[in-house]
Amino acid sequence: MEILEGISASHGIAIGEALVYNQEISIKKYSINDLQVELEIDRFYKALVKVKEDYIVLRNKLVSEMSEDEGKFLDAHILMTEDATFINQVLDYIRESKKNIEWVIYQVVENLSKKFSELDDEYFQDRATDILDIGRKIMRVLLSQKSMSLSDLNSDVVIISADLTVSDTASMNKNRVLAFVTEIGGKTSHSAILARSLGIPSVVGIKDVSHIANTGDLIIVDGNSGKIIINPDDEKLEYYTNLRKKLEKRENEFLQFKDISSKTLDNRSIVLKANMEIPEQEIENVIKFGAEGIGLYRSEFLYLSKKRRLLPSEEQQFNAYKFILEKMGDKPVTIRTLDLGGDKLIEGVTKQESNPYLGWRAIRFCLDRPDIFKIQLRALLRASVYGNLSIMLPMITTLEEVTKTKRIITEVKRGLKRDGFKYKDNIPLGIMIETPSAVMISDILAKKCNFFSIGTNDLIQYTMACDRGNQNVGNLYQPLHPAVLRLIKKTIDNAHKENIKVGVCGEMVSEIQNAIVLIGLGVDELSLSSIGLLEIKKAILNIKYSDAKKIAEEALRRSSKEGTEKKINLWMKKNLKYLY
Ligand code: PEP
Ligand code: MG
Repeated sequence: MEILEGISASHGIAIGEALVYNQEISIKKYSINDLQVELEIDRFYKALVKVKEDYIVLRNKLVSEMSEDEGKFLDAHILMTEDATFINQVLDYIRESKKNIEWVIYQVVENLSKKFSELDDEYFQDRATDILDIGRKIMRVLLSQKSMSLSDLNSDVVIISADLTVSDTASMNKNRVLAFVTEIGGKTSHSAILARSLGIPSVVGIKDVSHIANTGDLIIVDGNSGKIIINPDDEKLEYYTNLRKKLEKRENEFLQFKDISSKTLDNRSIVLKANMEIPEQEIENVIKFGAEGIGLYRSEFLYLSKKRRLLPSEEQQFNAYKFILEKMGDKPVTIRTLDLGGDKLIEGVTKQESNPYLGWRAIRFCLDRPDIFKIQLRALLRASVYGNLSIMLPMITTLEEVTKTKRIITEVKRGLKRDGFKYKDNIPLGIMIETPSAVMISDILAKKCNFFSIGTNDLIQYTMACDRGNQNVGNLYQPLHPAVLRLIKKTIDNAHKENIKVGVCGEMVSEIQNAIVLIGLGVDELSLSSIGLLEIKKAILNIKYSDAKKIAEEALRRSSKEGTEKKINLWMKKNLKYLY
């Protein structure tokens, strides 16, 4: 039995078999003789045939499950497995260098990919990624290493991995993944956020876990305290089996609050909405847990699925937005426009940057790629007639980003009118306040939009200069730091001066102690994963706004978060006895 500690990323207990998910390929280099050269070439040809067959199978699957277009991109891959330039380069290189075939392919592929990516032509830049993919596949065949796909799991597993990209998480088969554990990541990295939304327990930031655990080990994931137990003894197994049952019972008890309106003891209403990433899998919970609306739909998840190789078309997006709006009836639905970049990357669309969170992200990307942005806006406007839609812009740092977007929306409306489509004319337009610069000009921004939603996940990282996904600086990621709270307060005051509503949709909302401070600071709305909604509602029903206000006012005056945490914990012990 081995116990390893990490960061709690998503609550819940899971017990199951480990699957170590490792996408890395390690290539050795060694010399071979003339006879072996010909044998290695023979292996290369056989591997090429196998890779080509695999691509054809995958292409046909995509065409039958999605569309002709979704499968089409693989035609270039298939052709490249027969490409004479590529094959001849491999043959020349192995004959000249007399090194093993895996190493030769690695060299040729890297070289070709670099050449393609340097050409100032989108076609060849796409081929640069294709050739890398083909190279990896050939090397895997040669090394008899299977490429794992988290979407095709056929038994229930606990995924253990060095890292999981957002695309990995978005495409995994949620019915099969009991929990996941990674070496890298923080509470607010998007894989962790997704895990919470889907109710998958998760622990991140466990050093070397992908080397310590083995596929087939029995693992307990304790997402509440942020630890895992590898091959537990009988006593631990029994303890966690019981704990899991107890937690499930508590969740069911919360359901009694579903239809009670969310008000403090002294009658202040706090609107409770849900955050959502994958509507097909989450919308039932949003309704079940009584959300008053969708406070944040992270629309980029529509673009991030690994199953889909093309960006979603206008029609696909229109159907996806219409689905949410219809399901929610007349309840408000805030759809945030594309927030790609940071840890949400798409090969061939976003760029590899050395400082991605400070780079080509969200609204910056959209304004530089109006071709992509306009398709989303057209789809949103067309869907608007099916419900109560608001549009929200992410990562605003300047007023110009808002005014430019408004101009684009006007242009898009003109196009829709010309094409004979209906849309609502008065869709509220709001912005995320998640950069210190947006806070500092929130008095000006409040005059130009209809609502604010404070994105504390980013606001904390940009205020504390601390990467939200980096476990090494996790101790600096402090929601209750007075610097963060003062920025939130300033935003709320500036919004209220202009009579616009202000919500918070960052992950800090789901911790009761943080929610109390936010309510005390004066927010109108809280938006969080639907799974945590009723726990927060129960707390709201048991607090007084006047108490929360006092706690928040003191927190604003303090020099650090420690005093605030102590004070709230004491207050909660006295006033929220049911928690203890
Ligand atoms: C935030 O930054 O708080 C937020 C809600 O947006 P995201 O987590 O998607 O960056
Ligand atoms: Mg954000």
